[in-house]
Amino acid sequence: MTLAIVHTRAGLGLEAPEVQVEVHLANGLPGVTLVGLPETAVKESRERVRSALVNAGFDYPLRRITLNLAPADLPKEGGRFDLPIALGLLLASGQLPPDALKDTESVGELALDGGLRPIAGVLPLALATRRAGRRLIVPRANADEAALAGDLEVLPADHLLEVVAHLLGQTPIAPHRLLRPPTASTSLPDLAEVRGQYQARRALEVAAAGSHNLLFAGPPGTGKTMLASRLPGILPPLTDEEALEVAAVRSVSGLPLDAEWGRRPFRAPHHTASAVALVGGGSKPRPGEISLAHHGVLFLDELPEFSRHVLEVMREPMESGQIHIARASHQRRFPARFQLVAAMNPCPCGHLGDPRQTCHCTAAQIQRYQARLSGPLLDRIDLQVEVPALPPEQLTAATPGESSAVVRRRVVSARERQLMRGALNAHLAGRELEAACDLSVADRAWLAQVLERLRLSARAYHRVLRVALTLADLAGEPKPAREQLIEAIGYRQLDRLLKG
Ligand SMILES: [Zn+2]
Repeated sequence: MTLAIVHTRAGLGLEAPEVQVEVHLANGLPGVTLVGLPETAVKESRERVRSALVNAGFDYPLRRITLNLAPADLPKEGGRFDLPIALGLLLASGQLPPDALKDTESVGELALDGGLRPIAGVLPLALATRRAGRRLIVPRANADEAALAGDLEVLPADHLLEVVAHLLGQTPIAPHRLLRPPTASTSLPDLAEVRGQYQARRALEVAAAGSHNLLFAGPPGTGKTMLASRLPGILPPLTDEEALEVAAVRSVSGLPLDAEWGRRPFRAPHHTASAVALVGGGSKPRPGEISLAHHGVLFLDELPEFSRHVLEVMREPMESGQIHIARASHQRRFPARFQLVAAMNPCPCGHLGDPRQTCHCTAAQIQRYQARLSGPLLDRIDLQVEVPALPPEQLTAATPGESSAVVRRRVVSARERQLMRGALNAHLAGRELEAACDLSVADRAWLAQVLERLRLSARAYHRVLRVALTLADLAGEPKPAREQLIEAIGYRQLDRLLKG
């Protein structure tokens, strides 16, 4: 056989499209021609493959070698194609039997001595291999991750020689089994540790129940970060499907999976983070913080300190739940359905309205600081809550609050009611929202009047309805009553303040 075809996969965002490595040997001057527009990294792969084959004791074909990675227009980054290229050369030169790689995909980088090195992004690749109904040969260091794909035969190896001995039927590799199936981590921080701050705790529960975005405003040291980090723990546990999506994003980011398996993400990028770090991108596009927060919480502390540009680029993914990164030939799509919790100080020094410390900011400074918040972003935040500085005696006197487990039970049943209507409240469009709330004529007139008196925008009307509906869901009521409307209006308290 002088033409061999080996199946493997490229990495394109969270997708792993199939790539065929075609190896053709012909008579003529020895040399290698690469087609299929491989990037520099694949050209380096040619040298690694040659060394690995020779050092492992195989014959490197002294013929004219044509290597084609098809389809041509897929980006082909990194050393992941080393192993399939090496196997293709062995097949084409008759050192492996023609059908040795039937129904088999392979992936892995080769060291010069033939050792196999792990690659990033194995989980999405393994899921795609499973869907294709093939088995998968991977570097041993990737085996646990590949096995997370479930119903897939994973064949792990440390060295090219092991792979060949298996394919020749000399020393079969035992399919990899996870020692123990991953169990969701239970070590999330608990709400019971937060003392006082009843309104903020309540807002956190409402945010969890309706998947609303949330803004905490208050002086430093009042527990805004502590509160925000408790949100993942009161959200429902991830479904298996969601856990796999979260793990797939970590996988292509090269982050470890085991400790975080099944845990709702909590990401807290610093306000100096670049737009690329936040939403993803780069020359080899990688997921940003918003994708690492997929199915979890993105916490932006000191929101006004983030650059306006950085916050602007978050708008589109916040609407669509995903981010598209365009590159010359291809678009990568990363999921980014996260819940935003933002926090801000009331003024540049942080102590406006703080009984413990005097604020020396001027009115102009305060106004400039608050004006830095972008209106369009604020428009996507349903809940705004002040987190006041509490006198120390209140903090120590306060008895421990409810635990996350207790709050989560209410959140889960509120979400069940919403899913029966079709969607979580945060994702309801205007008309569906009004239909679900079904306000009486009297309540509608009353609400319009109150909002006008408070000089709140027309958009605030829908935010109030959305939150009121979640409050009704938490209370087990079919639709919001006056009581819920009043509480919901209370969560727009910063609208006027922020308008200056
Ligand atoms: Zn101040």
